[in-house]
Amino acid sequence: TTFIGASVGGLGDMYGRVQTSLGAADRVLEILDEPEEPTNLTNQIGTALKVSGNIEYDQVAFSYPTRPDIAVLKDISFQIQSGEKVALVGPSGAGKSTIVALLMKFYNLKGGQICIDGQDINHINLTELRRNIGIVPQEVLLFGGTIRENIAYGKPDATEEEILQAAKKANAYQFIQSFPEKLETVVGERGIKLSGGQRQRVAIARAILKNPAILILDEATSSLDSESEKLVQQAMDELMKGRTSIIIAHRLSTIRKADKILVIENGQIAEQGTHEELSLNEAGLYANLLRLQFELS
Ligand code: ATP
Repeated sequence: TTFIGASVGGLGDMYGRVQTSLGAADRVLEILDEPEEPTNLTNQIGTALKVSGNIEYDQVAFSYPTRPDIAVLKDISFQIQSGEKVALVGPSGAGKSTIVALLMKFYNLKGGQICIDGQDINHINLTELRRNIGIVPQEVLLFGGTIRENIAYGKPDATEEEILQAAKKANAYQFIQSFPEKLETVVGERGIKLSGGQRQRVAIARAILKNPAILILDEATSSLDSESEKLVQQAMDELMKGRTSIIIAHRLSTIRKADKILVIENGQIAEQGTHEELSLNEAGLYANLLRLQFELS
């Protein structure tokens, strides 16, 4: 857990630090897939588990092991039905990244329970759990192999046709075809440098190919140019179709489209509802946040 322990401030940052600290970027995904197993596992059931993606947090409380006296999450309870899109919003440091990190069992809870399809995640084998969750971080860093390898990670036995289909759905096909080596193009330090939007679309293609029931999206705060932005957005929408999605959201358009918004403040859910419901309360936190974040009057 050293890389997680060292990271403060956001999932994207978490991945960023892992990659920077390791140097050899091709080890990163491997390591992300094999973090230290939490110690309180009661059993290890669930081989070849295929979840439908109902998620329930029940009175979840949490402190980071390095700072046990600070309650980072207090009494977090919410439910997400299979296929729903939920946006987490709230000020920096409120606990949004921590909430999703716990779903992936990066840490043990201090109190409460998280269930997927009614099953406590402590009773789900870590590899199986992660196999059912796809992640698109804010800042995508690819490992230094070919585009094919980067897309096929997570489904190493994928056929050519499956890889190309995933690339098409992710709006990545065209730019891949424009390179002389196409799927065999080497990316990263020793190869072609892809733009931020292109890297994101490769990560989306990877997630489409992995085909998980649950998605975690950490939306980029920095804006891409508008054409790239549109292609990434379309690809994200395609990826989210029919999947339970938790989005750490920074864009108003994403937030408005969500089935449910959780407003996180100070480690608690301050408000929850749809954009319409939450907007009704003009003096509420959500309305205030929108004014601050998007300068709405
Ligand atoms: P942002 O929008 O800035 O990413 P956030 O809402 O995602 O913020 P978290 O990253 O979940 O907030 O952080 C919640 C609190 O936990 C913060 O006070 C943060 O400093 C602290 N924190 C985050 N990661 C760690 C860590 N690895 N060890 C100790 N404290 C941490």
